[in-house]
Amino acid sequence: MRIGVDLDGVVYDMVSVLLDHWNRQHNTDFCEEDITEYKMWEPLGVSESYFKEWYSGEVTERGFLLDLPLYPDADFFLHDLSYFEDELGHSEPNDIIFITARQPRISAIDTAEALYDVKVLQLPQVNWELHFCEQKWRVDCDVYIDDNPYLMRPFSKANRELLLIERPWTQHVRGTFPDYESIIAHLQAKVKQSRWY
Ligand SMILES: [Mg+2]
Repeated sequence: MRIGVDLDGVVYDMVSVLLDHWNRQHNTDFCEEDITEYKMWEPLGVSESYFKEWYSGEVTERGFLLDLPLYPDADFFLHDLSYFEDELGHSEPNDIIFITARQPRISAIDTAEALYDVKVLQLPQVNWELHFCEQKWRVDCDVYIDDNPYLMRPFSKANRELLLIERPWTQHVRGTFPDYESIIAHLQAKVKQSRWY
């Protein structure tokens, strides 16, 4: 199975780092729970253009993308995604297809370098790819995992299955997956039904 996996908001906790920087520079004390909207500038109370200019200044700082923390257990999640067992107990490898909307011109090298540093991705049995693409449904996968609720419509139009992970900014969306375990359980159940094999 090819499993599309978003980076920021799914495996990398970019929001808490952004908020650290934001709070220091703006003398505020926002925390992750305050970010109840994917369009982060809305809960921060600034204009889209102000936020985007600030954001691109931050993420292009050397080291910003290299040093982003993984969410707790993200490495176990990636390991669990890398293979499933079918109903006979046979191990079936999956391909982890990272798909990010980061701009490759400014982020490609740091993004790849950081992924190469993730221990679980160094295991020879774990196959992964990295794609830079805003229209993520165009990258061929069997299922996709993301934190961007605005992708739900284009994915459903493209007849692609999108699993939205629960974050403060997806709380208002129905049918999100509360944690990594529930995503793994959902995918394993699908495999057991032999939909893909
Ligand atoms: Mg994301």
